[in-house]
Order: sequence, then C-alpha cells, then structure tokens
Amino acid sequence: MAVKVGIPSSLLFYVFFPFWQSFFKEIGVQVVTSGKTTKSILDKGVREALADACVPVKLFFGHVIDIKDNVDYLFIPRVVCLNQKTIFCPKFLGLPDMIRFSVDNVPPVIDVRMDTRVGRFPLVKAYQEVGAYFGASKISALRAYLKARQVLNHYRALLIKGFTPAEAMARLNNPDESKPAPRPRENLKSNLKFAVLGYPYNIYDSFISVNILEKLKKLGVGVLTAENIHPFLLALQKNCGLPKRLFWTFSDIALKAAHFLFKHGRVDGVLHLTAFGCGPDSLLNKFIELEAKKHRNIPFMTLMIDEHTGEAGMATRLEAFVDMVRRRKEMIACQR
Ligand code: SF4
Repeated sequence: MAVKVGIPSSLLFYVFFPFWQSFFKEIGVQVVTSGKTTKSILDKGVREALADACVPVKLFFGHVIDIKDNVDYLFIPRVVCLNQKTIFCPKFLGLPDMIRFSVDNVPPVIDVRMDTRVGRFPLVKAYQEVGAYFGASKISALRAYLKARQVLNHYRALLIKGFTPAEAMARLNNPDESKPAPRPRENLKSNLKFAVLGYPYNIYDSFISVNILEKLKKLGVGVLTAENIHPFLLALQKNCGLPKRLFWTFSDIALKAAHFLFKHGRVDGVLHLTAFGCGPDSLLNKFIELEAKKHRNIPFMTLMIDEHTGEAGMATRLEAFVDMVRRRKEMIACQR
C-alpha cells in the first residue's frame, strides 16, 4: 500500500498544490487532501489554534485536524523565501511548529525549509530532502521536481487566462482538453468589472470568503484578481512608489496588483478582502487605500472576514456596493 501524505487544502494549497501533487505522484506517494472548507473544519481550527492567530491560520489548523488521522505524514514545508526579495509572513515560517506543538496526535510533519536566498539550487535540494523521507533517490526526486515545475507553469498560465484555482486544478487533472471546460474571462463580458484584491487563500476559499466570487458573478459583475495578471506586469510596478517593497510575499503581490488594476485594469470598482487578525494586512490595507484616493473615480471598499462572517451581512454589503457602482456608472453615461 502506498504511503499517504496529507496536504491541508488551505494557505499555500491554492498556489502550489498542482506542483506538490505532481511531485509526490512521480515519487510514488499518495496525496490526501482535506477538501473544501466546511463549518465543522473551521470550528475545529478555531478550537485548537491560538486565540490571536489570523483566520486563515485557524482554518489551516482545522484542515490539519480533518486529515491527520488518515495519513502517514503531513506535508507542511517551512516556506521562507521563493524569489530572493520578499519573505513569507512569519505565520508561514512557524506553521509546522504551531501544528506540531498545538495539535494532538499529529503524524510526522515534513517541514523542509525552502529559502532561495541560501546556497545553490536550494529548491531542488529541498525537494530532494522531501523525497528522502520516502526513499526516493536524488535523481528521481530531481526528475519529479522538473516535471512538477512544468505542471506549475501550466497551472499559472491557466490562472492568467482567468480560470480560478479550482477550475485550473480540475483542468490539469483532466488533460483531455477537448472536453467541455469552463470559459475563462466569460464573466468579464459583463458591463461591470471589479478587482478583488487579497490573499489567494482568502479569495478562493469559498467558505471563508463567503463565496464572494460567486456572489459577484450572480450580481452580474466580472472579476479580476492578482492571479489573472502576468507576473511581468506586476514586476513593472516595482516598489509601488514606496522607498522599498513590502517585505511579505503575498502583501507585495497584492499591492502591486492594486497599483496595476487601479491604473490599467479598467475596473469599475475595487474590493480588498482582508482577514481579521492579519498583521501584514493592517499595513497593506492602508497602502491600497492611499492608492485608491489617487483614483477617486474608482469606488473602493474593504471587506473584513473573520470566523463569524455571515452570508447575509456580506451579501448586503456587496449588493449595496454593486448597486452604488452601477448607478454611478449609468449616471456618468447619461451625462455624456
Ligand atoms: S499574511 Fe496575514 S492572513 Fe496570511 S498568514 Fe500572515 S497573518 Fe495570516
């Protein structure tokens, strides 16, 4: 029977899962995920995590608790830096330790450190270390790593085309591209277009985001997110007018996306989805607000999510915002 490795469907899952799935498959390891977030998963996380942790970390705890008894290992890499310029939020760095010391009866945690600022080919070495847990030779781990990189590139290309992570993953797992597939950017044909800014693990987790993307779609609003923008265009935003770029990887990407979309996205409104208890967001939200003030013709709203966010409250705020933007647009059209 194949060894099972558990990957919680939370946090970096939305960014790297296709890579990890391919890598483990190549070295003969079965991957088990915790699936979609549910109220029970969130409640388990809230019960076990530190009270002052941010909502996404509490949720991660819930996903771990959900799969820990069905797997031989948990894969929680200590991801520090992947671009030599920004680092991941300290919560990511401490994640394996938080899980190991706060959750009872966890299987062995694979917490290999990933930091591209150190040594030569640090990521290859990190994945060779992961492979060693399962007896994979350095050569077979390298082969698996190279194949997984191709899968990741394909995944990112699908996101840029406008697929959501769930749609892109489904498409990767169903390589028969002649079969009917979701039509990316179809929603952008609507006459209202919004940018939704924030971290991928908040925006694309339909439970914790209270299904914001689907709600906007139902209200007839097309959506653009940071994942739909080519990394080259984000890189052109440099430090976003600041003396130096933001330290944290996801905050840096979100701020760059905000600058790009306010200037070139031709969007009718901008929403920033922020998580309760997030330190980096308190700074990021201020910087996005400052940029929004320079573009007063584009309405901007911040939506905070926490473990108590309710469907009704979120829907009311969204409907009011969409209504306001729509009327404003119609008024401007009449004046022309
Ligand atoms: S960036 Fe914010 S939301 Fe994300 S893990 Fe860190 S504290 Fe939590």
